[in-house]
Amino acid sequence: MPHVAFIGLGRMGHGMAGRYLDAGFTLAVWNRSRSKADDLIARGARWAASPADAARDADAVVTMVADDAASHAVWTGKDSIIETARKGAFAIECSTVSHRHAMDMARDLTTRGLRYIDCPVTGLPDAAASGKLTLLVGADASDLDAARPFLAPLGTTLRHFGVAGAGTVFKLINNLMGAVQIASLAEGLRIAEQAGLDMQLVQQSLASGAVASPQVVRHSARMVARDFAGASFTAALRHKDASYALALAENLGLDLAVARAALDIYARATAEIPDDDEGRLIDLIKAAPAN
Ligand code: NAP
Repeated sequence: MPHVAFIGLGRMGHGMAGRYLDAGFTLAVWNRSRSKADDLIARGARWAASPADAARDADAVVTMVADDAASHAVWTGKDSIIETARKGAFAIECSTVSHRHAMDMARDLTTRGLRYIDCPVTGLPDAAASGKLTLLVGADASDLDAARPFLAPLGTTLRHFGVAGAGTVFKLINNLMGAVQIASLAEGLRIAEQAGLDMQLVQQSLASGAVASPQVVRHSARMVARDFAGASFTAALRHKDASYALALAENLGLDLAVARAALDIYARATAEIPDDDEGRLIDLIKAAPAN
């Protein structure tokens, strides 16, 4: 039976790890906070004492952690994957990391004999738990072909953008554009509220009109109702992604005014409501008191 080590059992990673059990893989798990692994252990996963312990004997190591710092810690920090992963194993990084970090990891892990698959994803936690993510891959084509059995439990759609790092480039573009759309939607809705429009009619019109992207459809309903039950993507994560995207743009010599404005809005949201659903940034747009 193929043996997978899964590191990072947050909102996304927990469901993704469960997919390997559903598919009959042998699974070792590690998370910084152990309690998130309890039900996976009850279902047959082995609890590992560290990322290094999890990676021992694994055919593929899959990580889904918050950011560059977390990715660095689990792959190459103390008691990390690199200490025990066997040569030829797949190193599948699903976390959204910066392009610079993805390139550094690809170089360092490949040098140590691992096969690096840059694999950020799109889809919410429910898609993660049901294996319906879209996988945005950057990898050597032959490595990707060999890795497909380890990717199949996670997603229904796989897009191969090119060499390692190319999946992350696309993911950062995607999430930067999401930041711009959601910030702009919040501003549009606040104009409508201040002007006294019928907000149900505004929401229906936006969700069926020319600006009805999936982000606008989903967030307009939540923002108008101020119903953010079950936070799935936090202000802090979106800010992280937008800042990584801007760093990439700067490295490419691009100056992006709209992206910078969205980043500022998310920086404020992260300072005030870091762990709230990102849709709550509508409440940060206050009207000036009347004179
Ligand atoms: P989350 O629920 O906040 O989980 C973050 C995970 O990272 C947890 O397992 C956390 O451990 C771990 N972690 C954080 N800092 C760490 C460190 N220094 N060392 C080791 N582990 C650390 O976030 P999420 O929503 O699952 O997102 C995970 C990744 O997926 C992020 O890169 C995010 O951008 C990306 N993503 C999220 C979504 C979404 O809809 N949520 C969609 C697509 C992609 P603890 O449990 O101990 O805190």
